[in-house]
Amino acid sequence: MQEDNYRHRGMRQNLVQVLKDKGISDVNVLNAIGIVPRHVFLESSFIEYAYQDRPFPIGSGQTISQPFTVAMQSQLLSVEKGMKVLEIGTGSGYQACVLAQMGAKVFTVERQRNLYNKTKPLLAEFPYHIKTFLGDGNKGLPMFKPFDRVIITAAAPEIPQDLVNQLRTGGIMVIPLNDETDAMKQKMLRLTKQEDGSLRREEFGECKFVPMLKDVAND
Ligand code: SAH
Repeated sequence: MQEDNYRHRGMRQNLVQVLKDKGISDVNVLNAIGIVPRHVFLESSFIEYAYQDRPFPIGSGQTISQPFTVAMQSQLLSVEKGMKVLEIGTGSGYQACVLAQMGAKVFTVERQRNLYNKTKPLLAEFPYHIKTFLGDGNKGLPMFKPFDRVIITAAAPEIPQDLVNQLRTGGIMVIPLNDETDAMKQKMLRLTKQEDGSLRREEFGECKFVPMLKDVAND
């Protein structure tokens, strides 16, 4: 893994301040962002970009989400220590590490084999509880249900019913759902599973993610 020195730590503290100024208030989220070295998830020549509040290409046509988006989704998820969290869209692995640093047991699924092959060994270098899977996240991980939380980090055309089924009663799903009127945009939703299996729905503004696709791809 690339080294993490005082200069990186300084840049991370600046990023934490930027996120606070943009309205992120959950101290557990801010602490985790202050600890997880985002630069190790980018190619070493892009270190200058690692602590700016921007998304960044990670290869295979995918991006590492903008830090604000990671912080926002983590905050909406209300993670508590020891919770089982299912993440769809491992990508670089950064979001998984932030959740794990917050104390979650993370189960993360990626559909692109290249990314999975690159990210799995990197995640294994951290002292976190993160299990990485290659598969279609629409189907979730039925063997490991129920989950306390589900986070989707790609733009979903609909709410995947398999994932709702794998969420415990009282559990929370955070999902960027495609806007019916504009396919290029999503609404960030927080869904809370009720006793009767229905979902309480709250909306948290617009966002922009790469699409959630079906099946495994070999690129
Ligand atoms: N959480 C990531 C950001 C991921 S970008 C991070 O912190 O870097 C979205 C990711 O979702 C991409 O890697 C994409 O390949 C993946 N993806 C898209 N559709 C998927 C699906 N059906 N199942 C699993 N992963 C999917």
